[in-house]
Amino acid sequence: MNKIQMKTPLVEMDGDEMTRVLWGWIKDELLLPFIDLKTEYYDLGLPNRDKTGDQVTIDSAYATKKYGVAVKCATITPNAQRVTEYNLREMWKSPNATIRAILDGTVFRAPILVDGISPYVTTWKSPITIARHAYGDIYKNSEMSIPSAGKAELVFTDANGNETRKLIQKFKGPGIVQGIHNLDSSIESFAKSCFDFALDTKQDLWFSTKDTISKTYDHHFKDIFADLYANVYEDKFKAAGIEYFYTLIDDAVARVIRSKGGFIWALKNYDGDVMSDMLATAFGSLSMMTSVLVSPDGNYEYEAAHGTVTRHYYRYLKGEETGTNPIATIFAWTGALRKRGQLDNTPDLCAFADKLEKATLDTVEGGVMTNDLAILFNRPAKSVTTREFLAAIREKL
Ligand code: NAP
Ligand code: MG
Repeated sequence: MNKIQMKTPLVEMDGDEMTRVLWGWIKDELLLPFIDLKTEYYDLGLPNRDKTGDQVTIDSAYATKKYGVAVKCATITPNAQRVTEYNLREMWKSPNATIRAILDGTVFRAPILVDGISPYVTTWKSPITIARHAYGDIYKNSEMSIPSAGKAELVFTDANGNETRKLIQKFKGPGIVQGIHNLDSSIESFAKSCFDFALDTKQDLWFSTKDTISKTYDHHFKDIFADLYANVYEDKFKAAGIEYFYTLIDDAVARVIRSKGGFIWALKNYDGDVMSDMLATAFGSLSMMTSVLVSPDGNYEYEAAHGTVTRHYYRYLKGEETGTNPIATIFAWTGALRKRGQLDNTPDLCAFADKLEKATLDTVEGGVMTNDLAILFNRPAKSVTTREFLAAIREKL
């Protein structure tokens, strides 16, 4: 058989634990037999991040800027326990945070829907994609306990030493206070990534904040989105037959529940954090969430939203066959291959991505799946191990 050819390599970011095991199996079973796979390989597994002083993560992010498309395996974000377990020289930062800081991107998360697993919200027929702004607000805050009566103020000192002050509260007794910020440049990048992704995927874009209460802070987000839309995107959206829609966050929550799905919901940092967990659960399972980081200058990094599935890995190390669900990782590969195919104008590669996704979903819809899905499936299901599942997909493919 002639293998499908690639023009430009994908940036391949390998990872840790069970997902690293899946990574190899997916390539061997579902990719290498069919594609003349070209990748520039970066080993982001924790031992190699430690060995390279995390330089490999930085290099992989710059390679993504160079080639435009990356596919990433889940990686461990070390905590104190991992430092001991892996005998690390340092508690390295989250690779996702490092990559995001270099690419300046926005993360879009969407569930994979299959017939047989119904969302808890029965009106949802299509995926809802969440776009979370990943900079500032309470994630980069400054907080203080107020021990006694006194006055708390916001003070801004400009480059010439001029002060602007605003009273926060005259305290009569103990309390608390918090300062948060954001940057126009970051909000603009976020807005641009959202508008571009909406055009790219031909879906409406919703954006919601609490601008009626936060008349300067949240309102500024709303204005930046509105200006960019009017100046750059309105005509493109009209031509693509899609809509940009701003509404208050509380109104948005109610509308999302009543909707049919099939749109992108852009949210500030905290709202996105909370709502993405709500949506993932309401759509079914964390193991079915995809994630793509889109940078404002058009670079894409695809991954599964779940972690390295540590508990399964320890069982695997003991020689057990696990039923770890590979679907979100397969879809990270298909997302990256399809994007590569679109950018390189290699339709065979896009068609392969479509076929692999279809073979995967057909396998589940035919009643063969890992246990995490079998317990949600509304028809009789055969629960299989990861390797049996991959073999069944290959058969269909
Ligand atoms: P996790 O790896 O997502 O797993 C949590 C639990 O969810 C698993 O124990 C498993 O439940 C279930 N699960 C998740 N993915 C599954 C799949 N594909 N198939 C079947 N079940 C699945 O989260 P975690 O245990 O909190 O984190 C483990 C490591 O991953 C951590 O070191 C963390 O830093 C890292 N992490 C990385 C990323 C990333 O790279 N993007 C994201 C999140 C976490 P059962 O055990 O009940 O079967
Ligand atoms: Mg969260």
